[in-house]
Amino acid sequence: MRRTLAKEVAFEGIGIHTGTKGRIVIKPYDQGIVFQKEGRIIPATYEYVVSTERRVVLEKDGVRVETVEHVLSALNGMGITDALLEVEGDEVPIMDGSAYTFAKAIKEVGYRELGSYEHAGILNRLELSETKARIHAEPSDKLEVAYAIVYEHSFLPSQFKLMTVEPETYLNFIAPARTFVFEEELEEIYQKGLAKGGSLENALVITKDGYANEPRFPDEPVRHKILDLIGDIALLGRKFIGRISCIGGGHNLHVKFVKHLYEHGWFGPTLDIEHIKELIPHRYPFLLVDRIVHLDESRAVGIKAITYNEQHFHGHFPNFAVMPGVLVLEAIAQVGAIMFFYHNKDRRESIPLFAGLDEVKFRRPVRPGELLYLEVKVLRPGKRFIRMEGRAYTEEGIVAQGIFTAVVS
Ligand code: ZN
Repeated sequence: MRRTLAKEVAFEGIGIHTGTKGRIVIKPYDQGIVFQKEGRIIPATYEYVVSTERRVVLEKDGVRVETVEHVLSALNGMGITDALLEVEGDEVPIMDGSAYTFAKAIKEVGYRELGSYEHAGILNRLELSETKARIHAEPSDKLEVAYAIVYEHSFLPSQFKLMTVEPETYLNFIAPARTFVFEEELEEIYQKGLAKGGSLENALVITKDGYANEPRFPDEPVRHKILDLIGDIALLGRKFIGRISCIGGGHNLHVKFVKHLYEHGWFGPTLDIEHIKELIPHRYPFLLVDRIVHLDESRAVGIKAITYNEQHFHGHFPNFAVMPGVLVLEAIAQVGAIMFFYHNKDRRESIPLFAGLDEVKFRRPVRPGELLYLEVKVLRPGKRFIRMEGRAYTEEGIVAQGIFTAVVS
């Protein structure tokens, strides 16, 4: 379910980087998570990220909000999908360096349900790496995060933590973890003009021999990394479900990964087989798409479950069942047809036919027991001729790809 706050909550304090006073009011809303400053709206999505150096900065049309990650983490961690964050000042107040003040207040005011919701997820494993850092995600029916930090440091060499993100566990075990800094890095950070408002009141300081102030958990730093990741993942603009593992990452890698998830994941709407049958005329044994998991103006993703009961396996081949490659192409094209008729309701009586297939490649055979993902992207939209790039893949990788031209008559 989509959720917003039952009523507004306000926070005041200094920003950790600018050192200036700010105020943020979290208000009930029903169109995702957005910031509002000087009367202008900045959607809390990765597209508006302009800096990831030690904090996340959003900017749209010259209006800028710094250090958005902890309040976004509190919202995401507490299951809030919609909120308007009204900001005064340059930066979101750091409070005690954690997300606990935000998360606790969100719990106290309670939430209001806004109706059903499509999660965002992924179809198969995705991975990105940077020097010394790596992040990957795999499908899951809930949000799970595994994080490892590895430093060449005498006191803090490495920490690891694995969490299933639910409001109660988030509030008690993640939200209280404060931002941390190594004492020896402080000079360089000040030189960059950052951390002007930083102090032992809002950051955990790590010296060569130990924590300079009392830690809240023995592994507080890695918990804060999870807190940051939950905030950065909120920049997807949808509640994400999947298992994310990250080693040695930071805001930069997190935000890059969010973009990667956006380009390769699914965001609904989901269409079941009955809905698919309303859109395309194909029927047994030639309806080759079981479900649609992503559908927008220019991209669609469908799923086909491959079972040995498929008619073609009995002759293709009696001793080695392989899905005919041309049927894989047909299945991709059907996802394209579903996308076309979904957006062109007035053309539903028409029949879609192939007009061309170019640059077709078959990479590997599809066998019973596999789940086939079918993805199309529109290259040239049209009402009569449509040109699309299509590909099919399983968990093992790409199966087939090509450029499809279809005529709808
Ligand atoms: Zn942080």
